[in-house]
Order: sequence, then structure tokens, then C-alpha cells
Amino acid sequence: MRILLVEDEPNLGAVIQQSLSREKYIVDWVQDGLEAWDYLENPQIHYTLAILDWLLPGLSGIELCQRLRAQHNALPILMLTAKDRMEDKVIGLDAGADDYLVKPFVMAELRARLRALQRRSPQLRPQQLQVGNLRLDYGTATVSIQTAGGDRQVIPLTAKEFQLLEYFMQHPNQILKREQLMNQVWEIQADPTSNVVPAQMRLLRRKLAEYGCPQLLETVYGLGYRLNLPHVQK
Ligand code: CA
Repeated sequence: MRILLVEDEPNLGAVIQQSLSREKYIVDWVQDGLEAWDYLENPQIHYTLAILDWLLPGLSGIELCQRLRAQHNALPILMLTAKDRMEDKVIGLDAGADDYLVKPFVMAELRARLRALQRRSPQLRPQQLQVGNLRLDYGTATVSIQTAGGDRQVIPLTAKEFQLLEYFMQHPNQILKREQLMNQVWEIQADPTSNVVPAQMRLLRRKLAEYGCPQLLETVYGLGYRLNLPHVQK
């Protein structure tokens, strides 16, 4: 679940990014409308949702909405703005926004509105991902495992472990390169030279091993990593 956050107020942007990162979203935060457009147009990046401020340097949130909709891009969009007059809401919704939140707002409302948008999102259908005996639930941002006794047990994952496992579950039995994981699972501002991918892989593997899946994520030497689905679980 990757969100593009376009907000030019540094304090507010930082608070939103921090809050949503805790909810297991990957949050790319930019402060300029033109820069935002570069990311939206990048075919390598797949966003689940966008949060757009109205007044921005470069391109406004309204212009970003209009450009996306002109390209028939159905990305769910939440507009953020201090404008609270009825006419402004109409302009925002007519430009193609799916929802609208007036500043100042409480973070709990923003999170609830994002969950609601996510439930309606064509990008997130189905709302669950079942791979082998693992099940990822987008509504609760959890992964659970079917135990030998037939119960489901939620694996307590950190935000990054969840995001990493989600990406593997979306690409079972495929070799995923380290750079690919870096680009798809980490924020765009992350340092690509750091060793975060192998470090996170170790943590995720350790956790999966605790829950009875020690062999699920294989290192394919010199190539990358692969989530191996045993045939019996088909
Ligand atoms: Ca602004």
C-alpha cells in the first residue's frame, strides 16, 4: 500500500508521513506539484492512494487531479485544504477528487477516510491476498497464518516487514532483485546504497520462522530473493 503525499507545509507533511507509516503505508512525501507529477507518471511506481494539498508550488492539487483524470487514471484521491467554502468543495470534487478533508483535521479522521477510500479502491481488489497458508488483509494491515490445527494466527509484523512480505506475496515464485525491492518497498527518499534490504530480509525471515515458515523466503545467490510456494499448498 503506497501513498503519494503532496503537502508543502513541512510540519504537517512530516506528521502525516509519520502517522501513516505507522499504519504500514509506504508514504512518498513531496512538497511540489511538478515533482508529484513526475512520480505519478513514473510507470515503475504503483500508488494505492494520493493525498493532495490544494495550494502547492508548481502544480496545484486541483491541477494534479485534473491531469490524472484526463488520463483516465482512477487513482483514489483525497484532497486536503484549508478552503472550506461549499464552492471550493464542489470544485475539488468536480476536478476528480474522491474525498475532501478540511484543515485543521485530526489524524484519526484522515486515517479513517483513507481506509474508506481503500475499500472502494480498484487498486486494492481483492481486499485480501492469499498465498499458501498466509493471508494478507488490507483492511486491518495484518498477515495471518493457518496453523496445523486449522486456526489463524496473526503474525506481528513491523510496518517494513509487512510491506516487504506484501510485495513478495504479490509476486510468488518470482526472483525479486534487491534494487527492485528497494524501489518498490522503500520510500523514494530512502538511501539506495544502504544495506536495509538484506537487514530487513533477515528480520522478516526470523519472524516467519517463529511462525513455522522458515523456508518461505529463499535467497537466490547473485540474483535476489524468492517466495517459494510449496506445491502441496495450492
Ligand atoms: Ca499548501
